[in-house]
Amino acid sequence: MNAPPKTFRVKSFGCQMNVYDGDRIAELLTEQGLASVGDGDDADVVVLNTCHIREKAADKAYSDVGRLKREDGTRPTIALAGCVAQAEGAEAKKRSPMIDIVVGPQAYHRLPQMLAQSALGGRPVDTDMPAISKFASLPERRRANPSAFLTVQEGCDKFCTYCVVPYTRGAEVSRPFADIVAEARRLADVGAREITLLGQNVNAWEHEGRDLADLIRAVAEIHGIERIRYTTSHPADMNEALIAAHADVGKLMPYLHLPVQSGSDSILAAMNRSHSTESYLRTIEKVREARPDMAISGDFIVGFPGETEEDFEATLHIVDEVRYASAYSFKYSPRPGTPAAAMEDQVPGEIMDERLQRLHERIDRHRLAFNRSKVGTRTQLLVERPGRRLGQVIGRSPWLQSVHVESDAPPGTMLDVMLTSAGPNSMSGAVRTAEAA
Ligand code: SAM
Ligand code: SF4
Repeated sequence: MNAPPKTFRVKSFGCQMNVYDGDRIAELLTEQGLASVGDGDDADVVVLNTCHIREKAADKAYSDVGRLKREDGTRPTIALAGCVAQAEGAEAKKRSPMIDIVVGPQAYHRLPQMLAQSALGGRPVDTDMPAISKFASLPERRRANPSAFLTVQEGCDKFCTYCVVPYTRGAEVSRPFADIVAEARRLADVGAREITLLGQNVNAWEHEGRDLADLIRAVAEIHGIERIRYTTSHPADMNEALIAAHADVGKLMPYLHLPVQSGSDSILAAMNRSHSTESYLRTIEKVREARPDMAISGDFIVGFPGETEEDFEATLHIVDEVRYASAYSFKYSPRPGTPAAAMEDQVPGEIMDERLQRLHERIDRHRLAFNRSKVGTRTQLLVERPGRRLGQVIGRSPWLQSVHVESDAPPGTMLDVMLTSAGPNSMSGAVRTAEAA
């Protein structure tokens, strides 16, 4: 039997939902009396909260496990959590015998019991998917960053042919309305000024006849919450009520992450995306009618099987049409068990590299143009952290731009600023005095 652990470290990879889960795991272990240690520090327990979306992300988890061996040959108790754990289950322990515990994203509330089993020499695996009972078993939120995440929906029923999420996160499940509002209130009480509602398909959230627009309106009523965001949305679930909320809920920020994945309709059909370029562009038009200053963001996959140069050029074309304020782009990565992995016409790596490079350049051009269009705008900045220099802070604009200003205001402060210059990745601003406000 090993000595009971005293310290822990959680390392999260991948999406914002993993960041949320990582925070909740940390709260759970803290409640058990374990102390959290910093990123580079030695800990008795290390939880690797992994991502399985692309091959590289999954491989990273195993190389991180290998690095946990200490110079004296000992190692911490290692818990593999997140989507790699869910996808690989007990296989993960065969691939890396250093892994003591395997716990899926729906089962991490049972981590304390699993640690106890591990201390007795067990090597537990739990990849059950009970219908989100984990939320009820987690401790109350004790602290929050000024900008906090709140998972409202998990899983996905869309089955895009390239994607592992429906397999690793299970079917679409929405958390109950009252639970979410209670957690949002609590986050406001412990310091959150901004809440980002999270879900794999957040705009598919629904509970007892309410939809995401109703939820946003309820969160907007909470004293202390000044900004609301939500991500990630599916184009097919962007309903009129949600678009209307952008026009009349002042706290709802003018930023929408709406992945299109490709600008080619034949590729979208092969991806099983259930939207076309035309329906996507119509949605963007409506959103901009509701909120003309909306920043649009997206995700793109290049090199999906069968993607021709013409298909790829259609992707460049949609980037120009939408004029994205920001976007993420990825090389297609075949995921075991997904239909696209078995498709013919896999695109060679060099072609993917070259297309990715061209797409990056195009996205960067639009990002810079969007940032420049905001120079001279007076707006509110939510301070998130100190800057690199003394007397400088970094905050977010309503359009999610990272803005540097000269100030020593603490995190959580709302500053009235003038945006003064723009780069591709960040902006600079000047704080306006109270008299000038
Ligand atoms: N639910 C969101 C949607 O429908 O767009 C996306 C969630 S997924 C976790 C995040 C992004 O990862 C996707 O938008 C897609 O661009 C990318 N992605 C998913 N599977 C991928 C794969 N097999 N290869 C490369 N990128 C992938
Ligand atoms: Fe994956 Fe598609 Fe579901 Fe998004 S909608 S999580 S890309 S299957």
